[in-house]
Amino acid sequence: MTVESLFPRLEALLPQVQKPIQYVGGELNSVSKDWDSVSVRWALMYPDAYEVGLPNQGVQILYEVLNERDHILAERTYSVWPDMEKVMRDNGIPQFTLDGHRPVRAFDVFGLSFSTELGYTNMLTALDLAGIPLYAVDRTDEDPIVLAGGHAAFNPEPIADFIDAAVLGDGEEIVLAISDVIREWKDEGRPGGRDEVLMRLAASGGVYIPKFFTVEYLTDGRIKRVAPNRTGVPWRTAKHTVMDLDAWPYPKKPLVPLAETVHERYSVEIFRGCTRGCRFCQAGMITRPVRERSITTIGDMVENGLKQSGFEEVGLLSLSSADHSEIGEVAKGLGDRYEGSNVSLSLPSTRVDAFNITLANEFSRNGRRSGLTFAPEGGSDRMRKVINKMVTEEDLIRTVAAAYSHGWRQVKLYFMCGLPTETDEDVLAIADLAKKVIATGREVSGRRDIRCTVSIGGFVPKPHTPFQWASQLGAEETDARLSKLAAAIRSDRNYAKAIGFRYHDGKPGIIEGLLSRGDRRVGRVIEQVWRDGGRFDGWSEHFSFDRWVEATEKALAGEPVDLAWYTTREREYAEVLPWDHLDSGLDRDWLWEDWQDSLEEDGAIEVEDCRWTPCFDCGVCPQMGTEIQIGPTGKKLLPLSVV
Ligand code: SF4
Repeated sequence: MTVESLFPRLEALLPQVQKPIQYVGGELNSVSKDWDSVSVRWALMYPDAYEVGLPNQGVQILYEVLNERDHILAERTYSVWPDMEKVMRDNGIPQFTLDGHRPVRAFDVFGLSFSTELGYTNMLTALDLAGIPLYAVDRTDEDPIVLAGGHAAFNPEPIADFIDAAVLGDGEEIVLAISDVIREWKDEGRPGGRDEVLMRLAASGGVYIPKFFTVEYLTDGRIKRVAPNRTGVPWRTAKHTVMDLDAWPYPKKPLVPLAETVHERYSVEIFRGCTRGCRFCQAGMITRPVRERSITTIGDMVENGLKQSGFEEVGLLSLSSADHSEIGEVAKGLGDRYEGSNVSLSLPSTRVDAFNITLANEFSRNGRRSGLTFAPEGGSDRMRKVINKMVTEEDLIRTVAAAYSHGWRQVKLYFMCGLPTETDEDVLAIADLAKKVIATGREVSGRRDIRCTVSIGGFVPKPHTPFQWASQLGAEETDARLSKLAAAIRSDRNYAKAIGFRYHDGKPGIIEGLLSRGDRRVGRVIEQVWRDGGRFDGWSEHFSFDRWVEATEKALAGEPVDLAWYTTREREYAEVLPWDHLDSGLDRDWLWEDWQDSLEEDGAIEVEDCRWTPCFDCGVCPQMGTEIQIGPTGKKLLPLSVV
């Protein structure tokens, strides 16, 4: 049955809301397909406002991968701002997609990509606006399959009651496999209804269906066990890993936003995964192993992506872009090709070493030299060993000296506060380090206008990392430590004006901690917050810590668990963690040993990068049937026409 566009009704209402352009759709490279010509229909959502959601790489990739198939249609939807929510409720307009302005409820799958847990309340708004029951158990054959993906889906337990399914890992192949299962089931006349199609997905071992698992608890609040409650459902659900990035060169046609967005550039992922082994880094752990995109594919993607979009900026993305085995050739090849043009190149994520200065020189050929950013994460050498960030103070000073002597005036340094075993001294070491950075800059450049910005936020322990058992530092303790650091930076008049200080207070981190390591009981908290008006919790101006605290007390009353239990409590080896049945490939014992290694009293034991040393048995490759893929391939980005 054809589903009509809601746009005629919507259009008349748009003058009542701010930035109406974000609800209009029709961007360059967006796709509008005939509803009746396909058999499987996806509504894809990034649960944040258009300005944040549109540039999201994951959604753009899946949108294109799905729409390239003749029998599938994919449309996008984003979170509507509270003014629009009100207008929609007042006028009975349901959550709609931007491409066809079709009601989300009419689709077969409603897929949400969560890069942060703070988007959970926005999911509830979207479900409610769409007219889809909040709880998976209340849905009928008229409702889409609500599917969660993205990094947060590696522990979907806090939203287990609200979603029908979750997938872990790379989405390109699994969205097509899911589409095949749905198509087949529909072609057969939908036998067994909704549960049958969910059962078929669960049986594959690659799609997690929370309602097919029962969680039992011990009297002290810990989990006793998580077990399938139907025969045929595997005990564990595995993550997905795309092994040949060259075979998936997406986005080929990047979406060009109609309204201002957080990034307006063409982003090419130059590799996936990271094996540097930073113990706090969930992204590094859950995306293993490293798989590089070849230099020639990168070159082709950049050329084509710019042509298709008209963007003038290219971002080379990955978790640590300077680690690509041929990054020097990539930088030089692209630098040569676009020399003298308007195209600027950026390397958003880099490690701290002098090699980056050569790279930064290549990347800034056409543009001005904005700040260089490095992430030492820990303030002292001791702290950096604990987190396995193998950067010494000497390395850092050498790197910034190279930057300042090559003409850079501004360096940004990122740190975390509240790391395991951290003391005030470790954080105060950041002030000393920043002063040394300024002193070095002044010395090597002979100038006084050298600046350094220190950015610091609270550490949140994440599932599937060695720190998944760690206690999180409380919000008040985090704030107290950050205040001491601010005072230490300001105390020295010779440096105070040269050092910028940006910090995030500890409160949002505690809620992120609750949502990251929470179990199914936390779903009640999310719902309570949402019912109390919680929206856009990732935005500081909308986030209310008090609302979350009150909702937690209310929703967990009578339970032996509370906010502190989920956040500041250290876990023991034997405790069943809410995500233990979700398989990221990492060996649990290896994670535990790595956690213990970080706590060694004589100094943490460091782990090398398995790209350049023998495998240290983290478990991913044998468990997932994958392997590290790195160059050098010996291929050249050139011959390419130099612009
Ligand atoms: S299994 Fe070995 S080679 Fe593979 S990511 Fe883990 S440590 Fe590296």
